[in-house]
This record gives sequence, structure tokens and C-alpha cells, in this order.
Amino acid sequence: MHGILTADADLAREGVGDRSYYFTERVSGARRDPVEGVVNSVACWGDTETVRESPDRAAVTGGGTRAAPDVESHHWGTVCPTDPDYRAGVLDRIADVGSVGDVRLTTLGFPGEDFCRCDRCERLFAESDCEDRVEWRSSVITDFTAEAAERVDGDVIATLYPDPYPGHLQERAGLDPAALAEHVDGFLVPLCGTGYETTYWVESLARGFASEVGDLDTSLTFQLSTSGTQAERLAELARRLDEHADGVVFGTHRTDADLIRDVLAELDGRESSVVA
Ligand SMILES: [Zn+2]
Repeated sequence: MHGILTADADLAREGVGDRSYYFTERVSGARRDPVEGVVNSVACWGDTETVRESPDRAAVTGGGTRAAPDVESHHWGTVCPTDPDYRAGVLDRIADVGSVGDVRLTTLGFPGEDFCRCDRCERLFAESDCEDRVEWRSSVITDFTAEAAERVDGDVIATLYPDPYPGHLQERAGLDPAALAEHVDGFLVPLCGTGYETTYWVESLARGFASEVGDLDTSLTFQLSTSGTQAERLAELARRLDEHADGVVFGTHRTDADLIRDVLAELDGRESSVVA
């Protein structure tokens, strides 16, 4: 499967390749109507607007650092995953979007190893049967994913942070791929870079994910960025990723659409305007 991932609703509707992913609800807090016939993506805990309006709803470390966009290594605000009102709201939004078809969940999980140590999370962990926080955080995210999946008519695709080293996803975000695989139909992993001057890291990560989740009953898709990359390089990279995955999707702006059509034609072995 080769497709695109875009914030342009018209481009998503036009369809470039086998499948289109559309940014329906983004980490900025911006929300738009879902598009039929595509995979609509919903940002779960990433919501800069909510964190700006109510900073105390952000996930927090034991040292008091909030998951806000002005904090180093955080590019957006992240709401605490046990905030009951927010959680109910996300599930409602997933149900709305999921009534149209397939849904991709983004910002699924805690925003880092040290989150969340708010009073509510501390209490819920203490009341749980979990032996450690890693186990408890995974149970929070897996339970949420199970409830989300029940609300979606189509497939559910979970986005994974690009770190396939065994145990890291669970330690970092509370994402346990084997547990999530009981509820989702596929995983999507962003492997984004500008220009892809070197590609060994992309292949290493792809191979790692194939080892970690390849045996699960879920599809595995990699996301590549398009900006600043030649068509030939993208086609070559996608061909190599195809060895480890069920699909590759290209982040695509309207201005990149012709480039991606050329890449897809090249991958399909059709005549294209790609020049060596
Ligand atoms: Zn919390």
C-alpha cells in the first residue's frame, strides 16, 4: 500500500495512491469535519489550545514541569491522559469521526517517561493493582484505546513513537504494542526527515519495528516526509521500507502532489515523469 497523508481536504478526497490519511483533528486543537473514504486522524492527548486555556490540565512531571509547547522537547501541549472530562470528550470526538470510517489515533500515550505525576495519576496508580508505573501507564492507554476502538466503524490505526527498542515505547509513552494489537487494526510509525541525505537510520528503525510488531495481527505502515526530497530518493526509500512493512504513506502538501504521483508511478512500475 502506498498513499498520502495530508491536511488538504480536497487532496485527501482526490486520492493519490491506494489510501489517503487526513489530519482531521490536530495537536494545535484545530478540529475539522472528517472526510469520507479516507483515514481521518484524531489527536488524542495532544491539544495545545486546551493546555493554553487551562495549564493545570497538562500532564506534569514530579518536578512540576508541564507538557506545554514552550517546554524543551515538547512541540505541543499534552493533556493528562486520566483527565476524566477530557477523556470523555476525546472518546465522543472519536465516535463522531469514526462514524465516517477509518480512524488514526495520534498523540496516543503519555508525553514522556516522567509523566504524569499529577495528584490524580498518583492516586489512581496507588489504588491500582499494578506493580509499577510502567505497567499502570500502559493499562491507562490500552483501556482508552479499547474504548476508542469500540466507537469506530472502520479500522483503527495507532501511531507509535519511532523507537522500536524493546520496552522503550512502554517506558516512554505507556504504549504496549502487543496489548494494543488486541484492539487496533494497524500501527503507523512516522520516520520523518528533511531530504533523507542519509537513510540508514530509516532502514534501521523500520527493521526494528518489523521485528517488534511484525508477528502481531496488525498492519505496519511507515510515514515519510516529502519536503526537500527528490522523487528518486523517495521511491528508493519506499521500496526498501516495503520489505519491512505493509504500507508507506507520504506527508503531502498540495504543492507536492505531482511529485508524489511520480513517486507512486515509479513504485508501481508505470511510466512516470521522474527523471534520474
Ligand atoms: Zn495526570
